[in-house]
Amino acid sequence: MTAVATSRPATSAAMKWWGWGDDDVAFSHDDKPSFGPFLKDHLGIDVERVSEHPPKFSDLDVPAPQIDASLRAALEAAAGEAYVSDDALDRIVHTRGKSLRDLVRQRRGDLGRVPDIVVRPGDEAAVTEILRAALEADAVVIPFGGGTSISGSLEAPREETRTVISVDLERMDAVLAIDPISRTLGPVEVAGTGRVASRPVGVTTRTARVSSEMSP
Ligand SMILES: Cc1cc2nc3c(=O)[nH]c(=O)nc-3n(C[C@H](O)[C@H](O)[C@H](O)COP(=O)(O)OP(=O)(O)OC[C@H]3O[C@@H](n4cnc5c(N)ncnc54)[C@H](O)[C@@H]3O)c2cc1C
Repeated sequence: MTAVATSRPATSAAMKWWGWGDDDVAFSHDDKPSFGPFLKDHLGIDVERVSEHPPKFSDLDVPAPQIDASLRAALEAAAGEAYVSDDALDRIVHTRGKSLRDLVRQRRGDLGRVPDIVVRPGDEAAVTEILRAALEADAVVIPFGGGTSISGSLEAPREETRTVISVDLERMDAVLAIDPISRTLGPVEVAGTGRVASRPVGVTTRTARVSSEMSP
């Protein structure tokens, strides 16, 4: 079945399904006029040559979600109806992380085991209820933080027959405390990314990963 993407849920991550970073962010060398000639001289790369276009989402063959009505109702009761999504694009964004292997397979349309549903709890009590519902239904739960894993750990096995629930923790991003003297962060909820941590008082996290904008 070929799924048609509906509009993303309001809280949905704006991540590209086929690459790194946000959907609406692109980079250009236009403001760096010396960069193109530099690459050409030193590496023989022509920045004007378009080698490939991003694949079209509409070309993907997204499997229909498999989830019982009772499990879905329990997830909606736990997180709120607006935070339970079986949107095709949302499910594909949550299928894998961002390793080269992940992205190559996504671009080829080799989707593997796509999660059936994406749930976004707002607090610990909702997480507890989601886990309880999943246990009762013998469903698989995969926590999703920033989605930047490069180890294949966000991916369910291709042969998994149980319902796969991706629990996206993006709503749980509060900075719970800040030490004003040392300007260090106290507890941060699980989805507090580098972006979130930098937000309230201009502090930064100690990690200097390339991916810290996207991941906790
Ligand atoms: C371009 C790029 C550059 C990178 N650079 C570096 C680097 O310099 N140094 C480095 O160390 N790493 C680097 N990484 C790896 C990446 O930063 C880590 O994989 C990242 O920290 C994972 O965090 P995440 O929140 O995105 O986790 P996710 O990818 O969302 O999840 C990773 C795993 O943890 C589980 N998980 C997530 N949240 C929870 C939770 N709250 N409770 C329980 N389980 C959970 C998931 O189910 C999954 O198994 C890079 C990755 C990319 C794509």
